[in-house]
Amino acid sequence: MTRGTPPAPPASRPPRFPLALKQVSGGTRAPVGEVLRPQAPLQHAAATAAQQAAGRHQPSGLGLDSAAVRQRMVQRLHADGIRVDAVLQAFATVERHRFVDTALATQAYEDTSLPIGLSQTISKPSVVARMLALLFDGATARAQGHLGRVLEVGTGCGYQAALLALLGRSVVSIERLKALHDKARENLAEHRHGDLRLVYGDGRLGHPPRAPFDSIIAAAGGEDLPAAWLEQLAIGGRLVAPMQDAARGGQGLLVVDRRPEGLQRQWLDAVHFVPLKSGAA
Ligand code: SAH
Repeated sequence: MTRGTPPAPPASRPPRFPLALKQVSGGTRAPVGEVLRPQAPLQHAAATAAQQAAGRHQPSGLGLDSAAVRQRMVQRLHADGIRVDAVLQAFATVERHRFVDTALATQAYEDTSLPIGLSQTISKPSVVARMLALLFDGATARAQGHLGRVLEVGTGCGYQAALLALLGRSVVSIERLKALHDKARENLAEHRHGDLRLVYGDGRLGHPPRAPFDSIIAAAGGEDLPAAWLEQLAIGGRLVAPMQDAARGGQGLLVVDRRPEGLQRQWLDAVHFVPLKSGAA
């Protein structure tokens, strides 16, 4: 502005107080259906007292709000199209922040993948939810309302294994990196839901002692589908795995159903997972 030029008049007058009623109403409004809970602080106080009485450790950064934050994550998953109640319920139950480093705990309920050490990552909640919902669309899962006998390849920090333990009748989860296998064992120690077995080894070989499986899910993307997974897939069973899709020139989600008449494959979403490697380390 040049010296001497008078300042431009304000485009609109600032509101004067007290405001007229019409200026106060009609602003932002809670969405229809959302229940306001003015007594929440009292509920929190009661919960604190109960937890302190039980001598439970509070996670730093999230504290008592973690159930509420998790609920918001579940609402986002629902808005994104995840409609399998059991899956949404499992996400509301498992405390994702307990599976990542304390420094990352505040990001645990964002839709993001997070490092879990050794160049590996815990997958984004939306992708995990999508894969679990796809498993629920397998013939046996649809008939039974649960995932039955489950094989997970790539335990990582154990988060998805904890979800699977709530969704299947029995779960075998394999990890090829000993340090992560041990970490998952530690993370899941106080989280034993149902029949969950953690195995250290090469998941490309599946787990013959507990085969066949009704649901097989991989958390690492390979170049080709290991023969053992197909051999260990029960009739009526479904496999969901990230895999290199030559036609796409990148990774895609591969879904394989074993029908009485044979195998049926379909390629779905483009994805990006850490590599499926051979052997254990
Ligand atoms: N589901 C995990 C995600 C882990 S990332 C979670 O919730 O944290 C994928 C994992 O697959 C890595 O830990 C990696 O070491 C493991 N992995 C890669 N190839 C594997 C193989 N052949 N057998 C078993 N685990 C494998």
